[in-house]
Amino acid sequence: MANFHVPPYAPPAAMFNTVSGYAGTVAGGGAMAAPPAASFHTPLYAPPAAMFNIVPGYEGTVAGGGGAYIPPPPPSVPMPVPEQAPSTPDWHIPSISEDRAREAFATYVSSKCCYSSDPVSEGVITNMESFNTYRYRLETFIEFRSTEWSQEPYTGQPLDAGVQPAPGPWQIAAQPPAFFQEHKQTIKVPYTSSVKNCDLCQGKGRNPCTKCAGSGKRDCTLCNGSGYRESDKRCVNCSGSGRKNCSPCSGRGSCQCDTCRGKGKLLIFINLNVKWSIEKDEFVAQDSSRLKVEKLEEVSGKELYKDAQYMVYPVRGFPDASVAQASERLVRDHQGKYAQTSRILQQRQTIELIPVTKVNYMWKGKPYVYYVYGNEFKVKAVDYPDQCCCSVM
Ligand SMILES: [Zn+2]
Ligand SMILES: [Zn+2]
Ligand SMILES: [Zn+2]
Repeated sequence: MANFHVPPYAPPAAMFNTVSGYAGTVAGGGAMAAPPAASFHTPLYAPPAAMFNIVPGYEGTVAGGGGAYIPPPPPSVPMPVPEQAPSTPDWHIPSISEDRAREAFATYVSSKCCYSSDPVSEGVITNMESFNTYRYRLETFIEFRSTEWSQEPYTGQPLDAGVQPAPGPWQIAAQPPAFFQEHKQTIKVPYTSSVKNCDLCQGKGRNPCTKCAGSGKRDCTLCNGSGYRESDKRCVNCSGSGRKNCSPCSGRGSCQCDTCRGKGKLLIFINLNVKWSIEKDEFVAQDSSRLKVEKLEEVSGKELYKDAQYMVYPVRGFPDASVAQASERLVRDHQGKYAQTSRILQQRQTIELIPVTKVNYMWKGKPYVYYVYGNEFKVKAVDYPDQCCCSVM
């Protein structure tokens, strides 16, 4: 018993009715329902088992978060296995012109306060090399469900616990948003609602006022409780009594209970939390330009390929083998990982071409290099030759 932290409003055992499919649901928020076997996660503050009766189908639901997720039932549609890879798109890889490179370079140099534009106007481009690279992105749109015991002031809501078996967590209809729109919905699980006395006020609806310790009076602030001001003048604020009615409780000595909002009773029930989210992973192929991959995170690319369906197939036949490998790996990871804990509703994958051009140029008889990359034509200059004070970015 000693180490249990029971939430203030944890109801006594008898108050929780048995709700089929919801056993283990506890009060206080955020319990994920765990798959039956291995990954059941017991929250630190779990009340003793006997406090919560078993709700069949909701075993593992706790109060206050930290419970277990609810594994979805097996997919209604079997995982599709393609007989052959989808047809390979015609991969078209563009390149930039010398003028475009020079223009991007000029913009970059003019944005630097102390870069002279001489190397731009006088420099002679000797060679341009394309090091285009690719970004593969996989997004999986999932529905995740968890349950928690919840409570609210009782104001006459219907009490339906045990009237019928509660529907299973995945049998309850939710309203999914459009694909790839993140959203949340909370649904009160039918046939789990019952009523109990509020623990905090023992059903009275009011608690002793903390400002006046329940007396309804406080010392007068003008005379500090003496009843007199300036030697023997009676204090007009308190008519010489030294005491005033306590204002937070209007002199009653007690305040409305916040937990039950004065009702004295709480409705307890299981909430089903449904969350739709996008799980995203990316892979950027390393090119041989020696421009750092992190630089490429700042820019966008040209979308070469886009594919969205219930479960995507890994990209095949792409010119850069590392992209195809990343696709294979990430698709397998996502489908393995998310199918365990959630329901996959849709996946999409894209391949972007990120243009990277290495420009070699001569200025005053010496060779220099800059890079132009991304749809935004961002520039990185290595050892810009003519600058007065700033360090090179
Ligand atoms: Zn006074
Ligand atoms: Zn008071
Ligand atoms: Zn109360």
